[in-house]
Amino acid sequence: MTKLDQTPWDIVIVGGGNAALCAAIEAAEAGARALILEAAPKPYRGGNSRHTRNFRCMHAGPLSVLTDSYGEDEYFDDLIRVTKGQTDEALARMTIRASEACLPWMEAHGVAFQPSLSGTLSLSRTNAFFLGGGKALVNAYYNTAEDLGVTVAYEAEVVQIHVEEGRFEGVTAKIAGAETRIEGGALILASGGFQADLDWLARAWGPSAKNFLIRGTPYNRGVPLKQMLDKGADSVGDPTQCHAVAIDGRAAKFDGGIVTRLDCVPFSIVVNRDGDRFYDEGEDVWPKRYAIWGRLVAAQPDQVAYSIIDNKSRDLFMPSVYPPIKADTLEGLAQQLGLPGNKLRETVDAFNAACREGDFHPTELDGLSTEGLTPAKTNWARPIIEPPFFGYSLRPGVTFTYLGLKVDETARVSGPHGRFDNIWAAGEIMAGSILGQGYLAGFGMTIGTVFGRIAGQEAAAHV
Ligand SMILES: Cc1cc2nc3c(=O)[nH]c(=O)nc-3n(C[C@H](O)[C@H](O)[C@H](O)COP(=O)(O)OP(=O)(O)OC[C@H]3O[C@@H](n4cnc5c(N)ncnc54)[C@H](O)[C@@H]3O)c2cc1C
Repeated sequence: MTKLDQTPWDIVIVGGGNAALCAAIEAAEAGARALILEAAPKPYRGGNSRHTRNFRCMHAGPLSVLTDSYGEDEYFDDLIRVTKGQTDEALARMTIRASEACLPWMEAHGVAFQPSLSGTLSLSRTNAFFLGGGKALVNAYYNTAEDLGVTVAYEAEVVQIHVEEGRFEGVTAKIAGAETRIEGGALILASGGFQADLDWLARAWGPSAKNFLIRGTPYNRGVPLKQMLDKGADSVGDPTQCHAVAIDGRAAKFDGGIVTRLDCVPFSIVVNRDGDRFYDEGEDVWPKRYAIWGRLVAAQPDQVAYSIIDNKSRDLFMPSVYPPIKADTLEGLAQQLGLPGNKLRETVDAFNAACREGDFHPTELDGLSTEGLTPAKTNWARPIIEPPFFGYSLRPGVTFTYLGLKVDETARVSGPHGRFDNIWAAGEIMAGSILGQGYLAGFGMTIGTVFGRIAGQEAAAHV
């Protein structure tokens, strides 16, 4: 293997996920000598990107697996709705427009697509699904990058970034336990958010953050982000903003991935540790509500909640990876879940009494609402009476944080004197430049692909 610290590299890329790989491929195709420093060991390479399933893509007509069309204005309106206006319009529109050329570029660099599946996430018009998921995408990009001559160092955690008068000089990386200084002509930061640093999360959220689960890689601890902020880089986003969903409370602390998601909430009642309901479980269809439940559960005592269904709802949602807790009586279920049995019985009885006759339609808003109950359940409210009863514990699962580096349309990082001379950023580390709050499914990979490609081209042109 090339001695990493012997000669200066043209471009040093920090991170080994989608954004880093897109940057590396573009840089190598432009003739630059690029080095990827990936903190994870090889089997865990690819960060959060390896957990993904799709990316959101503008298109004027049918494109590869995408049906119909999805224009710039509709895409932008979708973004404005979820961010409640907290976006940079010029950057957002540029990203949306650039997404159209990304799909053929991805195919040309090894990514295969498949038509979207039906069910809760049917997005066949707006989102292109990766055949084999994000893991296959990441593997394809590593192969392509290595064929193009990109060097990859695994278990190489960047711990310091050396900047002199606004110019990147080199990084210090911990490789196989030893600190090594590596010089380069340009730096691309693609090291994700800081969600895996639970102390940092706790500083933003308070001590309750220690009970959060992290859905993705344990390696995104925000070390390069903090280094840059300490050097005066402009930040975007608020440290408390993040994408968080309610996931199976039994999921691993890190890296549980997509399979730990639970889709039972709309057909259930959700109670907290004390057996009380706290929010309308049927407020809207699940794809529009699943992302708010992470925060709702985070606000409950001990950051835990329990979703309770009966036998008739068992097959209405995607099966869970861990089987639900099951009992013939509500009291038996409460005991197994560690809930106060009398209280759960009281809550279910009050809910059942508030349910009304009507037609139940699991796939659309059916208006089957409770009456006289606070909080109401405004759709899919059916009495929980048919044994066996099932329960799932829910915990907040953080996907990624939004605090990041401010960049311009060339992916260059802004700093105290305008822009850093030779430092670019792509992916989650700068996503806050566009996503001030909320989330649009598939947009994380779009931001990473668009800005990764730009950063690779720009850095290569610079060196
Ligand atoms: C379960 C799950 C499902 C998701 N599904 C989707 C989806 O379907 N579509 C979508 O658009 N988005 C999805 N996302 C969000 C998506 O994963 C991210 O937006 C995207 O992967 C970000 O890419 P990235 O390259 O910026 O970061 P990552 O892919 O997370 O890569 C960051 C890399 O940096 C490395 N790193 C971190 N610190 C250092 C350091 N100090 N030194 C060296 N390397 C370091 C990490 O090891 C990692 O390789 C999902 C996320 C999760 C967790």
